Amino acid sequence: MTIQYFSYGSNMLHARLQERIPSAIPVSVAVLHGHKLFFHKIHQDGSGKCDAFQTNNKDDDVYGLIYEMNEEDKEVLDEIEGVGNGYEVKEIDVYTVNENQKVRTFTYYATNINNELKPYLWYKDFVVEGAKENKLPLQYIKMLERFEAEDDLNLQRSFGNKKILEKSKGYTPSPFYKYSTYLKKRFGVKVMKISIDLGQSCPHRNAIDRKSGGCFYCNPESFMPPEADETRTVNEQITKGIERCEKKYGKGKYIAYFQAYTSTLENIDSLKQAFDDVLSFHQIVGISISTRPDTFTQKVFELLKEYEKKSYLLLEIGLESIHEKSLSFLGRNHNYPVFPQLLKRLEGLNIETCVHLITGIPGETNEDIIQTAKEMARLEKVDGIKLHHFHVVKNTLFEKEYNKGVFAVDDLNATKEKVILFLENIRPNQKVHRIIGDCNAGYLVAPVFSESKSKVKYLIEEEMIHKNRRQGKNY
Ligand code: SF4
Repeated sequence: MTIQYFSYGSNMLHARLQERIPSAIPVSVAVLHGHKLFFHKIHQDGSGKCDAFQTNNKDDDVYGLIYEMNEEDKEVLDEIEGVGNGYEVKEIDVYTVNENQKVRTFTYYATNINNELKPYLWYKDFVVEGAKENKLPLQYIKMLERFEAEDDLNLQRSFGNKKILEKSKGYTPSPFYKYSTYLKKRFGVKVMKISIDLGQSCPHRNAIDRKSGGCFYCNPESFMPPEADETRTVNEQITKGIERCEKKYGKGKYIAYFQAYTSTLENIDSLKQAFDDVLSFHQIVGISISTRPDTFTQKVFELLKEYEKKSYLLLEIGLESIHEKSLSFLGRNHNYPVFPQLLKRLEGLNIETCVHLITGIPGETNEDIIQTAKEMARLEKVDGIKLHHFHVVKNTLFEKEYNKGVFAVDDLNATKEKVILFLENIRPNQKVHRIIGDCNAGYLVAPVFSESKSKVKYLIEEEMIHKNRRQGKNY
């Protein structure tokens, strides 16, 4: 469930709130009538903080920003804001500035006030910068600037906050809820994935050579990173993976990603041993397991139940589409109903899910992708989404068919539109792991624009920001 929060103080600054509550997405500038802004809330640091003080005077307005955020994050926000320590929560109606639309939100108001108090300079700067960032009315910004403020004599605190403010300037809030932001908030550091190949196959391929059979688009060599090598032990693969990530991104924490083929096909004893091996690394904070919706045995279920208590667990489910025509086109060899059946079995378990889906499957329309998004939004147990646009890689059946002209692939504009339509129709609280796919160098056949994944990602985000399109807008 998502809720709407009206912020009128320092949380108007996107970077400040998203750093505290990553699920918070700015929705609209709004006004609260019959209230007046003061910096008179008594704070334990000796200064005054913002309060939307109720005057019931029709000439008094407090401007602010509506954020949409996860309901489960409210407890954290209450604690940060100091509910019970001079702030309380109330529900209020605010009006959007552009459409004058009434929106029910919650906000914080002061219960302990002192009109002699002044804000610290850095705090007032947060509020003023937030007002500028959201383009509140000029007169209102000038009114904020006129408030008297004082130096914070705690230099460490003052310096720390000024640094945060500097970093916040020019920050653009993400139009969708990034999984990376969620991980950083949860673990306190940047968290990356290290892929592991246990040497198993998938139900769809030859169990011995792993090469024959399979979905028509699949060539695991086209996406597995070099350190995931079945000839190495799990410990060696993790060590190599950490070395590669540290060289590229600096120190961080990692999730061991049992990615290759279908990890839940593995012999249970070996999978258990592999889990223990990866968790013996102090840098590993979680385990991610790849599976198909039809390859989840009771034994795997029992194993995950055991490890949900020991580690953060993520189950990555390759679904690709909810449409039977597409599952058949892709050669998936399973139908859609097996997916909700799997989710049902996971209910009540502390295991996050991430569903892999493909956008732009030949034959799928924009309406089809909206239907897929709405179905994902409906299913409570779908915590996250990983999107891959349809592409053709070497040494697959689709390479041959594409070269014969059996089907065409989407161009850049159609790809962008399908991704954005999808994001607009899922829940705002579903974590977005990825919006576009890629493959290892030398494997891509089509479409060629996707050679630069970061550029396509940038173009999608830019379009969403400029056209005011955001995750959950049509949910
Ligand atoms: S996509 Fe997954 S299920 Fe399909 S062939 Fe490849 S490994 Fe097997």
